[in-house]
Amino acid sequence: MDTLTLIWLVSIVITIPVMANKGRSWLAGLGFGLIFGPLGLAIALALSASPEVTQRRLNAERLRRLRPGGDLKLCPHCSEAIKRAAIRCRYCCADVSAGLKA
Ligand SMILES: [Zn+2]
Repeated sequence: MDTLTLIWLVSIVITIPVMANKGRSWLAGLGFGLIFGPLGLAIALALSASPEVTQRRLNAERLRRLRPGGDLKLCPHCSEAIKRAAIRCRYCCADVSAGLKA
């Protein structure tokens, strides 16, 4: 196996999980790797994550911040996520200082 073939194969093997991690089809990763080799890997790395993956990551981050010890809480009036230290909801302008804990 010559060096170029090895580089091509490694590019394919890496491109597939990179594309899958960004919410793209593994088949597209295979195609990119097969056709473009290392350039396909570079394109896959430069691609942004799909909107679904981006939204899922944002939701996970929001849930992490809403856990006890996080910096967010839910407004008791409108259920929007607001800063834990807030005394007034930024969405519904309700007074949320009563829920303050030391
Ligand atoms: Zn509110």
